[in-house]
Amino acid sequence: MDNRIFIFDTTLRDGEQAPGFSMTVDQKIRMAKQLEHLGVDTIEAGFPIASEGDFEAVKRVAKEVKGCRIAGLARTKKEDIDRAWEALKYAKNPLIHTFLATSDIHLEHKLQLSRQQALDMAIQNVRYAKSLTEYVEFSAEDAVRTDVAYLCQVIEAVIDVGATSINVPDTVGYSIPVEFGSIIRTIVERVPNINKAILSVHCHNDLGLAVANSIAAVQNGARQVECTINGIGERAGNASLEEVVMILRTRKELLGFETGVNTTEIYRTSQLLTHLTGMAVQRNKAIVGANAFAHEAGIHQAGVIKDARTYEIMTPQSVGIRESSLVLGKHSGRHALEKRYSELGYSLTREELNRAYDAFKNLADKKKEIYDGDLIAIAEDKVTEIPETYVLENLQVNSGTQLTPTATVRLRCGEKVFEESSIGDGPVDAACKAIDSMTQVHAKLTDYSINAVTKGKDALGEVLIRIECEDSSYAGRAASTDIVEASVQAYLNAINRVVYQKKGKP
Ligand SMILES: [Zn+2]
Repeated sequence: MDNRIFIFDTTLRDGEQAPGFSMTVDQKIRMAKQLEHLGVDTIEAGFPIASEGDFEAVKRVAKEVKGCRIAGLARTKKEDIDRAWEALKYAKNPLIHTFLATSDIHLEHKLQLSRQQALDMAIQNVRYAKSLTEYVEFSAEDAVRTDVAYLCQVIEAVIDVGATSINVPDTVGYSIPVEFGSIIRTIVERVPNINKAILSVHCHNDLGLAVANSIAAVQNGARQVECTINGIGERAGNASLEEVVMILRTRKELLGFETGVNTTEIYRTSQLLTHLTGMAVQRNKAIVGANAFAHEAGIHQAGVIKDARTYEIMTPQSVGIRESSLVLGKHSGRHALEKRYSELGYSLTREELNRAYDAFKNLADKKKEIYDGDLIAIAEDKVTEIPETYVLENLQVNSGTQLTPTATVRLRCGEKVFEESSIGDGPVDAACKAIDSMTQVHAKLTDYSINAVTKGKDALGEVLIRIECEDSSYAGRAASTDIVEASVQAYLNAINRVVYQKKGKP
């Protein structure tokens, strides 16, 4: 199995801790289940001691996701490791991931530890973690800027006390492939007991080299890659899972490695993350961007029509992108809808199906042709919904080149009904102001994007927004054939998220 590369997904830990990507516990569960479906080997579900919400998420992922190894992060401190274990002990296959910086710059300026003290701390805590569970990973934070002789000494020592995987992170995204590959090669050659552990890498993308560095590492002996969906993560992000996996697959003849990932789940996993966080990937993003398989130049199109291999190094189907084909219309029944959802990989409960069916009928009244993309948008709306504390009952807007934009909004909250009119810079702004005054939530809009879900002038417009409220960031999304309505619904969705969070639920 020496050519097997293990995929360690850290979307829910490194990815989620990046600004704008926070998820609720329920959303993390949804994502974890999809990652299990995708076939990653390990899911790092969070950093349990960091917050109550992180602890809860790791615990629930450990309880509910049994097809992958579940990891939780801990500093090399007993209380961190205990807290991680408290959450991880429910997992079928747990892993404690403990880390300590090893570079002089971190030891001197951040931790005020000597090299010997850090070495002792690593040994002591790996030994302790190992007393709790079989699989323990040790990360030498800022490994790239660590003296390599010292790095090898630490690695050998922690393997001696039971570490089963050793992670070599490029924490600050500083390395380049030839250098990073040679660090990995040196570790393989100099650490005598290295074959007792799996060598892992974790690269950041500050110079745009996270994926390239990860591949260089694999070519030099690393057998685990830590990565995230859509490449999300601290600062410029982590190595992108879909890119790493598709490089290994597309260039298998040259590289000679394989992963356990079911690549046809890649696109849906990427879309799910976008839906949950409200953060879209750029159109030209490799593998999962909207343009990744779009051939625009006439000469390319002509070639692809004759034989796709002329300009296509991999097929859209291999990552799970289907031809957007007409599937259902106004007269399709509940049964047809259920069947299509199950083909798309959704297993909806009766109640979820009912909600989806109502939304589908509603949409079919406004729009002739319903595509897979529409159905996914509906399902994600209906299935991963947070409680709708405020429901939009009526929206009326007035705008035009010679008018002051005004909006009248009616909201229902339980039994109570509110109505308010407001003016603004545009109809959406006016409606949001009316919502602010009724809900008493005062938020700042920080991000707004609108995309057509499918083709045609009657396509669903999907609005993704982010708002900031008391130093936290919240996502909102909604889809409608009317973009003003979609924008207002997305805003209200984010407001409902604020209200839900404030009730003390994680
Ligand atoms: Zn990281």
